[in-house]
Amino acid sequence: MSQEQVPMPLDSAIIGAGIAGLAAGIAMTRAGYKATVYKRSHFKNEIGAAISLTPNLNHVLKRRGSDFAEAGETEKKQYRKVTRDTVETLVQDHGLANIEEIYGAKLNAYHRVDLHNGIRELAEHEGVHIKLGHDVHDLDVEAGTITFENGSAVQTDLIIIADGIKSSFAHKITSRPLKHCSIDRSVFRTLTPINKLMTHPVFRPLYEDEPSGFVNSSISPAGVFIVTYPCRNDTLMNFAMFHKTLPSQSRRDSAFEWNAGGDLEDVKKLVEDWHPA
Ligand SMILES: Cc1cc2nc3c(=O)[nH]c(=O)nc-3n(C[C@H](O)[C@H](O)[C@H](O)COP(=O)(O)OP(=O)(O)OC[C@H]3O[C@@H](n4cnc5c(N)ncnc54)[C@H](O)[C@@H]3O)c2cc1C
Repeated sequence: MSQEQVPMPLDSAIIGAGIAGLAAGIAMTRAGYKATVYKRSHFKNEIGAAISLTPNLNHVLKRRGSDFAEAGETEKKQYRKVTRDTVETLVQDHGLANIEEIYGAKLNAYHRVDLHNGIRELAEHEGVHIKLGHDVHDLDVEAGTITFENGSAVQTDLIIIADGIKSSFAHKITSRPLKHCSIDRSVFRTLTPINKLMTHPVFRPLYEDEPSGFVNSSISPAGVFIVTYPCRNDTLMNFAMFHKTLPSQSRRDSAFEWNAGGDLEDVKKLVEDWHPA
């Protein structure tokens, strides 16, 4: 087909309504395409703790017209490293406070759900069609057809695959199976209200009168360490406890999602290793 014969605007279909799929939808509409995002589930039970964004990503969001304040951003101004046993400061670096001056955009953090919702609202505002409950079963990238679990199908000019890190369809483009390799590391994450944290005798002195930022603990002999940083306008503290993957976490089939198993007893054991009484 010659360039003159190309029908405009072209249709694009995006598989997956995560951050990547929605951002692709916005980019396509701004480039003059029609964009339809197909999402397997409904926007219920979105999970996630805090997510930190570096200036390069914030530059993109700025260009897309994101409302950072509305999404509850917390700017990161310092990095600290503390001992895991006595929680004493080993390193304190206020250099993050100059990031915007140097790179033209902030280093900040969001609650992952707030960020996702913000990008979704922007996508809808830009005219991206989001079709929920459309579980893609198969696709043909040459013919431009997408088949859904319920047997229905659509034809489109361009297919964008954004179905996550454990993509079921990326191999349709690369013609090779997508390989995942385990790094044998997992992380327990939780969000705690900061006003609650401020009533705790260990945590209060750690965070009181300190600018928002990252606090990392030193690593225990078994490789456990904790990273904390606040999100949602500094009202929630994100705790991430990195550790060697436990047998209970390998048990569950996590081939299609981020989540793995684990329970409170596992967390307690790791805390004992990290911060011996
Ligand atoms: C708790 C948490 C904290 C994180 N923190 C950070 C951080 O601090 N910094 C950072 O850079 N990254 C972080 N990440 C990773 C980051 O969130 C992910 O890399 C990013 O969200 C991936 O976006 P995505 O759109 O590629 O995939 P996903 O968010 O996985 O979205 C994929 C979408 O595709 C849909 N889908 C899948 N299969 C189909 C199908 N067959 N049909 C239709 N739809 C389908 C899914 O339902 C989903 O909506 C974090 C992740 C989590 C879970």
